[in-house]
Amino acid sequence: MSIEEILSKDTLSRDDIAQLLSAESPEEVEILRRKAYETMLENVGDKVYLRGLIEFSNYCVNDCYYCGIRRSNSNTERYILSVEQVIEAAKLAAEFDYGSVVLQSGDRRDNQFIDYVISCIKGIKEATRSEKYPEGLGITLCVGEQTEETYRKFFEAGAHRYLLRIETTNPDLFSKIHPQEQRLEARIEALNALKQVGFQVGTGVMIGLPGQTLDDLADDVLFFRNMDVDMIGMGPYLPHNDTPMGKQYETTEEIKQWRFNLSLKMIAICRILLKDVNIASTTALQTIHPTGREEGLRYGANVIMPQITPTEYRKNYMLYEDKPCVSEFAAECHSCMQMRIASVGRSIAYGVWGDPLHFRNKQRN
Ligand code: SF4
Repeated sequence: MSIEEILSKDTLSRDDIAQLLSAESPEEVEILRRKAYETMLENVGDKVYLRGLIEFSNYCVNDCYYCGIRRSNSNTERYILSVEQVIEAAKLAAEFDYGSVVLQSGDRRDNQFIDYVISCIKGIKEATRSEKYPEGLGITLCVGEQTEETYRKFFEAGAHRYLLRIETTNPDLFSKIHPQEQRLEARIEALNALKQVGFQVGTGVMIGLPGQTLDDLADDVLFFRNMDVDMIGMGPYLPHNDTPMGKQYETTEEIKQWRFNLSLKMIAICRILLKDVNIASTTALQTIHPTGREEGLRYGANVIMPQITPTEYRKNYMLYEDKPCVSEFAAECHSCMQMRIASVGRSIAYGVWGDPLHFRNKQRN
């Protein structure tokens, strides 16, 4: 079946998705991109939502084999921002009119950490409440697997979105890239708990993992649809030298380029199939290609997360190597982002939370 024939169907099967992912010729890829862009315009419009990204701590109890801040990496200098530093960063986001922030860290489940996150959420709400933001900035959390009770506490404190990446839905692949104590089922249970609590829920995968097939990625897309998620944040697998996977697998420029192209096709397919969700164009794309995030927008993404982590800490939040935007100040990231978004003919939705329409549409039905 041709790409056009697949794209004219009402819904996509696993085989259809795998075939779309295998498209290589520039003509076929452009047909896919255009369809995704049209779907985006029809369902969520052309605005780009911004979330100021605060990477507040790189302590992590987990040991994912691909991650530069895994607990066993003794070469990473550990840090945690003070609650005041987190609030200051959020105030900057309000000043730039981003509307929302993302609080991201490694996984910790101790009471001290939970209380700290709650203080950050409440502090941000308090400090950013204004005529323009009567409820303060929107807050997305990305702090890993927690109990349902903890999720409820975070939600009641004022966070309303949560990102928890599944990384891959293939159980064999999941167990190859994580230690035994980390289970795919636990992550799925956590995603269900987040929905139960009332969060707008996002997930995502790494693309181009060693041993991952196009069928695996097709299953991942169908998982997003079946889980009825509201947000997608995914990107190419990028190695870090201080990790078991970084040491084990060689990554050539050609492989990086392949992962980059595959990631753009994944964004396009998610947009076509899931229609009204929010899809982030992630920093990982820009690590491979200087205009990677702009490309993500061209393939149907509608969210960008400019860095507002205090600059001196950014170099220690290296999940993968060559991460961009580590030495710039928040104001530089702000103007860089404006320029990048304008360069692909898109405009920014300033001063709004930018919730995924999918969540609102679900509430209506
Ligand atoms: S990917 Fe997340 S959970 Fe895994 S080691 Fe890195 S920070 Fe921790």
